[in-house]
Amino acid sequence: STKPRIVVLGAGYAGMMTTKKLMKKLSPEEAEIILVNKHNYHYQTTWLHEVAAGTINQNQVRIMIKDIINPNRVRLIYDTVVNIDKENKTVILENSELTYDYLVIALGYETNTFGIKGMEKHAFFIEDFESCQLIREHIEYQFAKFKNDPEADESSLTILVGGGGFTGIEFVGELVEKVPKLCKKYDIDRGKAKIINVEAAPSILPTFDKDLVDYGRKSLQERGAEILEGTRINECTEEGFLVGDNNELIKAGTIVWTGGVKGSSILGKAGFEITKGRVTVNNDLRVAGHDNIFILGDCAWVMNKEDNRPYPPTAQAAMQHASTCANNIRAILHNEPLEEFVFSDKGTVASLGVTDGMGKVIKDTKLFGKPAAAMKKVVDDRYLFLLGGLKLLLKKGKVRPF
Ligand code: FAD
Repeated sequence: STKPRIVVLGAGYAGMMTTKKLMKKLSPEEAEIILVNKHNYHYQTTWLHEVAAGTINQNQVRIMIKDIINPNRVRLIYDTVVNIDKENKTVILENSELTYDYLVIALGYETNTFGIKGMEKHAFFIEDFESCQLIREHIEYQFAKFKNDPEADESSLTILVGGGGFTGIEFVGELVEKVPKLCKKYDIDRGKAKIINVEAAPSILPTFDKDLVDYGRKSLQERGAEILEGTRINECTEEGFLVGDNNELIKAGTIVWTGGVKGSSILGKAGFEITKGRVTVNNDLRVAGHDNIFILGDCAWVMNKEDNRPYPPTAQAAMQHASTCANNIRAILHNEPLEEFVFSDKGTVASLGVTDGMGKVIKDTKLFGKPAAAMKKVVDDRYLFLLGGLKLLLKKGKVRPF
């Protein structure tokens, strides 16, 4: 057909919302839309720490793509993107190839180990739904194994979390609630199971205000987590982390690295220019020199024109990118001017388990404790509502009104 073909890669926050908006903005006669994703489900990346700790029902985190995106309007292809041939406007998938007129790259993030020796080999990553299920199963296995072998080394119960950023701290927040439950289930003394967070910088959560950080640290410590700040990880071995000037070994049965992310490795493979793991896009979210390619979400650096620094890549930003991208594709097809992306910051709240949290919401209002935890659930639910309306909210939402 002569209809232009729009191909969206990745069904995360950016890809799902872009596809959804394109469906609304363009008639079937105007454009063919194809969404490509590794799996037939979309998962909540911002809830992955809960999957890894085993503190959430797995089914709540996953949404079948066809329940949100009408397969009669959008062609859904469940396959893995292997490369992009920009010259021939072709996406290479594991099992087929696909040409495009307009391409939206929304393949999300991968873990960055910054080359720390042994990390790739010996640590688990909070990277996608499957990698987090592995973590949950591994932790549970350590406790079951210990119970059946009372002679076993206590350190096998230790959970070591590398990186005190947002993901690492939210994960520890879940662990301080999960570990006591595991101890009870397997009849193990709580004092034997350690949760240790290791951060090289002088403080955890470097992007948060000091009073919020102090609150978070104290909350986690009071519930039994050890927070080692200013502690450099030199190497990861099968046994644990080697840290500090003396290469001290911290032994653990479970090792999880959360200390860094970068955009999908497909970007580099496809020959885009990479800056610190991502592609810097123009303010209309297109790549310089490629009028038909948009890059969104965790794959992109979008510059804030006011201070000439990139906006931090977040789910919040990824969803807003989707709006601009869909508007701009429509504008191109209608020969209208393109719009520029401007981030609207709704604040950030970090969870510290189910009933605790802290963060900032609009107008710089700070929240601590239960109100923060409640706000976090509202934020999570707002996204579900935007994605799938009331039906999805009632099915998968965190706030239980009834
Ligand atoms: P993703 O949501 O990661 O989606 C990428 C999609 O692409 C996935 O569905 C994946 O399966 C698919 N994919 C990847 N590679 C391929 C391939 N080769 N072929 C086919 N498909 C592929 N942000 C906030 O704003 N607020 C928060 O509170 C917050 N909390 C977070 C908590 C945790 C534990 C984590 C890990 C992140 C958190 N973030 C938060 C950051 C946020 O999750 C990311 O910024 C966001 O997910 C980026 O969205 P995206 O659409 O770019 O990518």
